[in-house]
Amino acid sequence: MPDGVLENPAATVGVPVLEVRDLKKHFPVRKGLLRSVTGHVYAVDGVSFSIARGQTLGLVGESGCGKSTVARAVIRLIEPTSGEVRILGRDILSLNKEEMRASRRQAQIIFQDPFSSLNPRMSAGEIVGEPLLVHHTGSNKERQEKVAALFDRVGLRASQMNSLPHQFSGGQRQRIGIARALALDPQLIIGDEPVSALDVSIQAQVINLLMDLQAEKNLSYLFIAHDLAVVEHISHRVAVMYLGRIVEHAEKRALFANPQHPYTEALLSAVPVPNPRLKRQKRLVQGDVPSPINPPPGCHFHTRCPYATEQCKRDVPPLVEVAADHWAACHLRKPLPASVLSDAGD
Ligand code: SF4
Repeated sequence: MPDGVLENPAATVGVPVLEVRDLKKHFPVRKGLLRSVTGHVYAVDGVSFSIARGQTLGLVGESGCGKSTVARAVIRLIEPTSGEVRILGRDILSLNKEEMRASRRQAQIIFQDPFSSLNPRMSAGEIVGEPLLVHHTGSNKERQEKVAALFDRVGLRASQMNSLPHQFSGGQRQRIGIARALALDPQLIIGDEPVSALDVSIQAQVINLLMDLQAEKNLSYLFIAHDLAVVEHISHRVAVMYLGRIVEHAEKRALFANPQHPYTEALLSAVPVPNPRLKRQKRLVQGDVPSPINPPPGCHFHTRCPYATEQCKRDVPPLVEVAADHWAACHLRKPLPASVLSDAGD
């Protein structure tokens, strides 16, 4: 058993598959001939969440809010500045390079762009089989058989294994990406906007495939999207990010039925309602997301929030439990009284 892989899966029953605490990623901004550091991009600034086995957390926010940086930082494709990341209870930030490589069996990523995330010179079969080769899994014949089975499972034909990526449609390429992510039988899959580049009808097919795979293999997903409508179907819980911070986090139905943060309200008001007789009140936010190099003080959202007060410009609102298991970071929302919280825990 290689280092970095948990020897006894039974020992992890009840342990979250992914646990992230106070994760930060600050990129230095360098200028001048000496490339001296003149500031930082606060891409991720104290993010915490966990994902239970067989569950999906949808992480949502506009472009530039830091959600893709979270995706990469939790599997150390980029090194976090600080914080804690545990996969099946194991602190992965303390692993050395070799241990980290082994632990990647447990967590795989599917990228947004199926057109650029596949090596154009490798056949689809080689792409899907590459993780098995890298991790020295099985004989040649066993790897071929596994790749053929994966093709079949994601809705591709084994006869397509020798085709090159450009011979597939966008949806089929994303299926190749999913098959590659499944090759090592991971427990956690991170989807970094895995359907954003696809047509709406193909998006639904890929989401349904991911949900079927989850039911079959008890997978956990961190599913990243910029659109609440996309995460609604697949997620059990939803976290909303704004400029590097989580501003609301709740069970999906509670968040959609009763959003507590003005930013979530605005994102939700842009989601189309399938019934033409029902109309949502539009609450479009003004302007663009401010630069994460110099984010607004206090509540980062105050420059676009219709309810902003002087306090919002000054004080950072903490993420507090405003209803049972429903968390929001807004000065308008008061935390549940301690008596209610202790009753709920009894
Ligand atoms: Fe708006 Fe203030 Fe709440 Fe921020 S803290 S979302 S600015 S009301």
